[in-house]
Amino acid sequence: TTADSKPLLVLENFIAGKFVPCSSYIDSYDPSTGDVYCRVPDSGREEVEAAVKAAKAAFPIWSSKSPLERSQILNKLADLIEHDLEAFAQAESKDQGKTITFARTVDIPRAVYNFRFFASSILHHTTECTEMATVGCVHYTSRAPVGVAGLISPWNLPLYLLTWKIAPAVACGNTVVAKPSEMTSVTAWMMCKLLEKAGVPPGVVNVVFGTGTKAGEALVCHPDVPLISFTGSTLTAQRITEKSAPHCKRLSLELGGKNPAIVFDDADLSQCIPTTLRSSFANQGEICLCTSRIFVQRGIYSEFLKRFVAEAKKWKVGNPSDPTVDVGALISKEHLEKVRSYVKKAQAEGARVLCGEGVDSLALPTGNQKGYFMLPTVITEVKDESCCMQEEIFGPVTCVVAFDTEEEVIERANSVKYGLAATVWSSNVGRVHRVARRLQSGLVWTNCWLIRDLNLPFGGMKASGIGREGARDSYEFFTEVKTITIKH
Ligand code: NAD
Repeated sequence: TTADSKPLLVLENFIAGKFVPCSSYIDSYDPSTGDVYCRVPDSGREEVEAAVKAAKAAFPIWSSKSPLERSQILNKLADLIEHDLEAFAQAESKDQGKTITFARTVDIPRAVYNFRFFASSILHHTTECTEMATVGCVHYTSRAPVGVAGLISPWNLPLYLLTWKIAPAVACGNTVVAKPSEMTSVTAWMMCKLLEKAGVPPGVVNVVFGTGTKAGEALVCHPDVPLISFTGSTLTAQRITEKSAPHCKRLSLELGGKNPAIVFDDADLSQCIPTTLRSSFANQGEICLCTSRIFVQRGIYSEFLKRFVAEAKKWKVGNPSDPTVDVGALISKEHLEKVRSYVKKAQAEGARVLCGEGVDSLALPTGNQKGYFMLPTVITEVKDESCCMQEEIFGPVTCVVAFDTEEEVIERANSVKYGLAATVWSSNVGRVHRVARRLQSGLVWTNCWLIRDLNLPFGGMKASGIGREGARDSYEFFTEVKTITIKH
């Protein structure tokens, strides 16, 4: 039983359309209380083997269905998740520590939309055809699903990111073995309960729960899983690349970021400040696209800083289930300590912490005293070489520094190993285009943040990843193309 004597939630793997218990389990914590509330299968090679076998067996039938048949099933699944949106949102918030508001308005609606989006986009792809009249030939391309896809996802946007992989993979006719993060497995398990009702045949979607080193690695090393779509840290991606190399697997890697916001002196601060607060602190700063380096042009630097810090102090930290709370709990005790350690390092280097960790006091409700909470923290007077300006912190911490020229800020923004997302704030259209083109970043938002058209490519350059996801990109990743030549 849990600390408040409720029975522990015990998850089971979902293989070949059935829930199956595992021989061993790992504890999963409620980040807002620090209590164990759930037990997650500690799957290994055996469970992965069974799941891959089921996925292989389901492939011939699923891959031969028409896109329209698959589309109808995915739309049904979207409807079923949407019908239970509140239950999914509650579960995501409890399991991950994120606010109920974020789970209700971002995570679960997006999970629903992922299925609807790929259910629709799969109906609209066309293949290529060229003609060589002089030799009497036409060439055309044909695309087919690859087989069993291995899908590995992180803990920050659990169902959102897992369905961003499952939806395109199965829409294209592949079958899948998915492994969510061991820290946030509950909503994936809830989704499995809806698959049969949606009409997903047994074995098309299998979910194996467990750790990265055991279950994840067994999936990466399995010879019958020719493609792996992974979202997570750059360090894990290196390991996955190494482990999959002997099999020459196809990899899609969506990794970390150290995302800059560049605020020019002609920016509309009434838009820029609230959006940059969100881009720094939304979901506790635990989004790969979060801003963590804010470059502000010298002329407006003090005004920006004053207003930004004053607004940051208004963000309410507390029980994630309270709808008035803006910042929930971080994912784990270890992660909280890691994020805090960056603030300490910055202080030791001579930087100034203007609000948050170590500066302001955090009053928590009685039941949340042992939760993994932290105040939104703003650091300034920090050098570009500092670890706080170079490494991904992945928490509610952002650095604000001044710059003088366009040329200078482009160079400084690019001087990290990552290249995922950037935001540019300016009312000069010419400048916006110039800067966007030169930033080493897979995504550039100007005068906004996190507005996505899923049709277009998503992904990072440099250490932020390999490959892109989106309507066309995911279709290409999850299918094998063939060029056919006909002489007449
Ligand atoms: P992580 O790399 O620790 O874990 C991600 C997943 O990989 C988990 O399911 C984990 O169990 C599994 N895993 C760990 N070791 C493995 C191994 N050796 N073999 C196979 N699987 C393994 O990442 P995390 O801490 O869960 O997530 C945070 C990271 O994810 C951050 O770096 C963040 O930037 C990144 N992220 C990137 C994107 C993106 O789209 N670019 C989106 C969200 C998060």
